[in-house]
Amino acid sequence: MTKQDDHFKKVIAHAKEFGFVFPSSEIYDGLSATYDYGQNGVELKNNIKDYWWMSMVQMHDNIVGLDAAIFMHPTTWKASGHIDAFNDPLIDNRDSKKRYRADVLVEDFIGKIQDKIEKEVIKGKKRFGEEFSEKEFRSTNPNIIRRKGQIEEIESRLKLVLETNDLAAFKDLIDELGIVCPISGSKNWTEVRQFNLMFGTELGSVAGEASKIYLRPETAQGIFVNYLNVQKTGRMKLPFGIAQIGKAFRNEIVARQFIFRMREFEQMEMQFFIKPGTQKDWYEYWKKTRMKWHESLGFGADQYRFHDHIKLAHYADAACDIEFKFPFGFKELEGIHSRTDFDLGNHEKFSGKKIQYFDAEQNQNYVPYVLETSIGLDRMFLAVLSKSFCEELLDDGTQRVVLKIPPALAPVKVAVFPLLKKDGLPEKAKQVLNILKLDVNCQYEEKDAIGKRYRRQDAIGTPYCVTVDHESLNDNSVTIRERDSMKQERIAIDKLQKYIGDRVSTKSLVQNMDRLLENAVLN
Ligand code: ATP
Repeated sequence: MTKQDDHFKKVIAHAKEFGFVFPSSEIYDGLSATYDYGQNGVELKNNIKDYWWMSMVQMHDNIVGLDAAIFMHPTTWKASGHIDAFNDPLIDNRDSKKRYRADVLVEDFIGKIQDKIEKEVIKGKKRFGEEFSEKEFRSTNPNIIRRKGQIEEIESRLKLVLETNDLAAFKDLIDELGIVCPISGSKNWTEVRQFNLMFGTELGSVAGEASKIYLRPETAQGIFVNYLNVQKTGRMKLPFGIAQIGKAFRNEIVARQFIFRMREFEQMEMQFFIKPGTQKDWYEYWKKTRMKWHESLGFGADQYRFHDHIKLAHYADAACDIEFKFPFGFKELEGIHSRTDFDLGNHEKFSGKKIQYFDAEQNQNYVPYVLETSIGLDRMFLAVLSKSFCEELLDDGTQRVVLKIPPALAPVKVAVFPLLKKDGLPEKAKQVLNILKLDVNCQYEEKDAIGKRYRRQDAIGTPYCVTVDHESLNDNSVTIRERDSMKQERIAIDKLQKYIGDRVSTKSLVQNMDRLLENAVLN
């Protein structure tokens, strides 16, 4: 098992043990690729949503929210292209009987070549020490040049088979690259087939084509069909955005990486309506803004990278992903897509309703273009959880498991302890708790020694623990202990609310983001 596999296994076990994520309907042995969020998971999830909503809706005068239904008129999916084109290419390995996405097999193969390049760079750094210029090394080292060439060739062949939908050529590509099944190690593959990812069901009691509806595979269409409603009732002027958080459903071929790929998941999407012709500038704007949203969490800029799409979706004229370094490598966390007027234009065509914007300056009607940012809430949750999970060896030789979750996202912000379960300390501690819980999510614990209580709070990522002791009864002060440094300090009870509030508010993340954006403009 690699170090990364081991880390990932520990994260999954920890998520279950501490009430973050449970397998769905576990008493019936679970349901594949479906998970439930426990008492701490739901708090973390809500905090991620708050951060996203605040930075999108609250911080932008021209972005408003929406909560559309999951069920939509079936013609929606004809217009959006999902019925005809929302397919993934699948392939089976005859020996392991495992099913794979053919494009993911090829992308993982490319990933391995990329890893070799990175290893070469690390070797170079060691060899040349101070003198090392990474840029020069990457552009002159013969092994790197050869491998880059390999990647380019594979990518262009992948692009071609995806664009031409040539499934036989897809199979040839997999055979020629000698891709083996990660489970059986064999190259005994079936043909490549297309598989539609939409979940269908029946509306009401009458079966048949007329009543067939779908669980939405993306939240975006709920926004597009409401474009006119919001624009008119909100008197919105271009450019403006509509943001939405909600469930989406995809019958994924392979769903093996915990909450990374699920069949029921949640998206946070924002569709930004713009004047045709301005899409390139807005694409760059949202790429930069979204990257800073991620970076402001403090996990390090090197944990993210942009990846341009090899094949553009049927609706896009430019598209990229923000990839995150998950325990199993760099993978898509968020998509940024320039969707042109494809969606609104098609809804206009299929519904027969005029879906346009009157541009008073130009005295002209047109179908707006759309810039989309789309992030998976569950993937974001996994990114935060996996990057926060640390095992630390302490000075006294003991070990602790701590979730170094950015304080604003932590499920519990502060835990309040009486030092002892007597002498009026619990009563005093509860007074402190009652003050703090008006502002933030708190826990109260009086069982076990303080050290043990600290460990339990570390394990769920609580940034602050407050202890009420005998002195507190006289001087109205308490000890506050910070999670990561484990430093303790004495603080007056009447200063606690502000002290904690300043450090754990969503506002602090948004302010970080603004600072990062300002610096990016200055540099
Ligand atoms: P992938 O290539 O990984 O299948 P995608 O390109 O189909 O993803 P989009 O359609 O761009 O994904 O969806 C936007 C976001 O929704 C993704 O960046 C991802 O975070 C999230 N997402 C998509 N599919 C799933 C899924 N099955 N489970 C969890 N999150 C998902």
